Amino acid sequence: MYTDLQLYIDGEWLNGAGRKGEEVINPASGKSLGTLPHASKADLDRALAAADKGLAVWRATSAYERGKIMRKAADLVRERVEHIARVMVQEQGKPFAEARIEVVTTADIIDWFAEEGRRAYGRIVPGRAKNIRQLVLQEPVGVVAAFTPWNFPTLTPVRKIAGALAAGCSIIVKASEETPGSCVELVKCFADAGLPQGVLNLVFGVPAEVSEHLIGADSVKKISFTGSVPVGKLLAGLAAKGMKRATMELGGHSPVVVFGDADPEKTADTIAAFKYRNAGQVCISPTRFYVQEGVYDRFLKRFTEFANNVKLGDGLDKDTTMGPLANARRLDAMEAIVNDAKSRGGKIVTGGKRRGNQGYFFEPTVITDVPDDSKIMTEEPFGPVAPIVPFKSFDEVVERANSLPFGLASYAFTTNTQTATMIGDALQSGMVGVNSVAISTPETPFGGIKESGYGSEGGIEGLEAYTNRKFISQG
Ligand code: NAD
Repeated sequence: MYTDLQLYIDGEWLNGAGRKGEEVINPASGKSLGTLPHASKADLDRALAAADKGLAVWRATSAYERGKIMRKAADLVRERVEHIARVMVQEQGKPFAEARIEVVTTADIIDWFAEEGRRAYGRIVPGRAKNIRQLVLQEPVGVVAAFTPWNFPTLTPVRKIAGALAAGCSIIVKASEETPGSCVELVKCFADAGLPQGVLNLVFGVPAEVSEHLIGADSVKKISFTGSVPVGKLLAGLAAKGMKRATMELGGHSPVVVFGDADPEKTADTIAAFKYRNAGQVCISPTRFYVQEGVYDRFLKRFTEFANNVKLGDGLDKDTTMGPLANARRLDAMEAIVNDAKSRGGKIVTGGKRRGNQGYFFEPTVITDVPDDSKIMTEEPFGPVAPIVPFKSFDEVVERANSLPFGLASYAFTTNTQTATMIGDALQSGMVGVNSVAISTPETPFGGIKESGYGSEGGIEGLEAYTNRKFISQG
């Protein structure tokens, strides 16, 4: 059982009648799950008008009332977790257990923002003259246009939806056309919770056409995008033309630094599990492994054992611990990365090729002996490929880790407190996990620096992203 693929505009579910569309593919089988309708230009204009109307209603609704509706939506997400997770596995490929965690976390994010919306405090600044009262207020930024990718089909939309709604904004979401059903189910929870019509709208279409139309619309005041660096730069440019606020959560290439004093086996177990989550299609996935010489062999051995024990299969099979890649483009990308590594002297310790010819399965892969300027060490792999290389000194590894133009996440493992502090300070990224991979929670800021983008999506910063500051000097 999959789901009805529909658009949601101005409180109405719209099916394919007369609209263009595209097939949604199950990456485990390569077979079609259904046809997704595309929004026409008229549909997009209707969504814009609805969001304008929705904004007027929603910003006038108290944060307390908004929070109540949002918490109800969170409860519905939890009630429907099994169904939503099944939809997600079918269209995205990840194992059911991972999909379930994503859906539960989706509900937690709504709850966090529902509460945080009630704490969008202003402040009173003492005036210079006696009869002046100076107020700093937070106001909703306005209509939001959000664009989300296929790797976390409910988690990426909900960070934007919940942040915007908590701040009193209305929003138009263009979720991924490759994994649309999960977001349809998420939006249903908000609709069924009683969200006023027009406040949340869901559209699909040709990404470049939809984003150009929505970002160019006068009424849209804020853009939020999660996806690749090149598309992020394109959309940031469109936003800049209208001087619109933007949050850009783009790709990375996360280094992992394992110091010689860390337990190599324990570290390998922790980080390998994190590496192969969602088949490596995670923006904060660990992607470059630098291991200090003294523990290199033991770390590599244990990491490889972990990779060999990964059970590749359909995400709905109980035994599966890693599903297929989400689309055929990723298979091509993995093959290009592996071929480049081989041609540069890289050794494939395990994996390195496609598994079977049905669906988009690629083996958990470990590569060694790759130079720092190879594809795998410089381009985000976004797949289950782990390059593991040795290093000698702290300064050397910091330079290598910080050498790329990305800065989303990085990780380090050490038992020395001084090294832990120093590496946390030295790594250039928006998030650093030191002896921890828990860098994404509803309560904490999530976002990158350098070409990985700007703005944060969680924590108090994730609400601020949807508010403007207004200063009132009242005599
Ligand atoms: P892509 O660059 O074609 O697309 C990335 C995302 O942007 C997709 O969701 C796509 O639908 C959307 N998109 C593309 N063009 C757009 C446009 N003009 N307007 C609005 N949205 C647009 O790449 P892809 O093949 O889908 O994914 C591969 C790469 O994307 C990965 O290597 C990874 O770097 C990056 N990616 C990052 C994240 C993340 O969480 N930061 C998620 C998915 C993909």
